Amino acid sequence: LSGNEQIREKLISRKIEFIGLQFTDLLGSVKTVYAHMDEFETIMAGKTMFDGSSVKGFARVEQSELRLMPDLSTLRVDAFEAERGRVAYMYCDVLRPGGETAECCSRSILKRALKEAARLGCRLNVGLEGEFFLFETNELGEPIRKAHDEVGYFDGGPADRGERTRMEIASEMKRQGFMLEAVHHEVAHGQHEIDFKYGEALTAADRWMTFRQIVKHVAHRNGLHASFMPKPFAGQNGNAMHCNQSLQSTDGVNVFFDNGSPDGLSDTARYYIGGLLKHARGMAAISNPIVNSYKRLLPGYEAPTHIAWSSSNRTALVRIPSARGGGTRVELRTPDPAANPYLVFAVMLRAGLEGVASRLEPPEEAAGNIHRMSAEERDKARIGRYPRDLHEALDEMRGDELIRETLGPAAFEMYISLKQQEADEYAAVVHAWETDRYLGRL
Ligand code: GLN
Ligand code: MG
Ligand code: MG
Ligand code: MG
Repeated sequence: LSGNEQIREKLISRKIEFIGLQFTDLLGSVKTVYAHMDEFETIMAGKTMFDGSSVKGFARVEQSELRLMPDLSTLRVDAFEAERGRVAYMYCDVLRPGGETAECCSRSILKRALKEAARLGCRLNVGLEGEFFLFETNELGEPIRKAHDEVGYFDGGPADRGERTRMEIASEMKRQGFMLEAVHHEVAHGQHEIDFKYGEALTAADRWMTFRQIVKHVAHRNGLHASFMPKPFAGQNGNAMHCNQSLQSTDGVNVFFDNGSPDGLSDTARYYIGGLLKHARGMAAISNPIVNSYKRLLPGYEAPTHIAWSSSNRTALVRIPSARGGGTRVELRTPDPAANPYLVFAVMLRAGLEGVASRLEPPEEAAGNIHRMSAEERDKARIGRYPRDLHEALDEMRGDELIRETLGPAAFEMYISLKQQEADEYAAVVHAWETDRYLGRL
């Protein structure tokens, strides 16, 4: 039996009826088309077609007919078969009819960046921290816009009303092959966090998409709604997608570690940080892609507001956790879970690699709380401001050649135009805050 036939037999013996072919659109939503097991040959040959003009980011006439090429290494069977028939899922690359990768395939954009790293003899590992909120739902199944518990960081017990659902999510993740490092209530009311073990970047991005789906499904099964919205409540912490990253050489060594340097960080790590800081503003529209993202990035909520790095404090955009040796890593704290992880990893990797290639020395480490520094102190320390809103972020992205090159011109233009529409739409709305504040007085 050929490899594909063996897999087919195995799936049939597990009573799999359908294959769910999945890909992530440019804006980070997962899309699925189901094909019956009878079509297994066609599926594996990458002949499943779809209408690209109906998917955000692919909406170009010449790309309206696209194909899905499944990556067998991503095959998974989830626990929701009862609801949807027995389904096995695979993540796919999106191809043009002739077999070239579609320009707006975010998985392929990441693969291209990873190839660039491989050419330089290294691979990117990423470890993600997943934060989300759980909400009670009303009789229509809609989320009730109120935190559903009143406890915080590491709390548990009956007052942690999401505990049971959170643990069920963790168990389902475990069943689907995740290695879980930490599962806990987060700082904000109704907020939870699950951290899973790092992996090679493409796998980590695929896993993040699986993680999101598991969270949503298990919450739903429990009559709750899970949300990855970056900042659901003013006055409380928001949701981040912290990206812990390191470069590994082909012989498996973490090249961010240097036993001989005083802080244990290699030159490569320092230059990589230099690259991340240099392109932080240009990457912002990717790592913080929605209007609401910028409401998370305010002083007082453990989220970064300025462009700096630090080994100790969480107000910096890049933090260096204390682990050394194989665990030496750089934590990028800006990304939020509204972002497309494939694009985030692609741009942060290219930014870091540019830093390494140009031996870009980062400014000195920020020692204290950046929010408590005066503007003069920040200027002296070369600590710039992170974009304050999506408009500013898009302007920065437009001017960043490296981001254009990483996404490719078509995806770059498409992304900016979709996001600009969103920013403009928001700017045109008169919000309740404005009428509350001004209508009576003016
Ligand atoms: N949730 C916070 C953020 O928005 C961070 C809190 C934490 O994980 N330490 O970045
Ligand atoms: Mg954490
Ligand atoms: Mg956290
Ligand atoms: Mg963290």
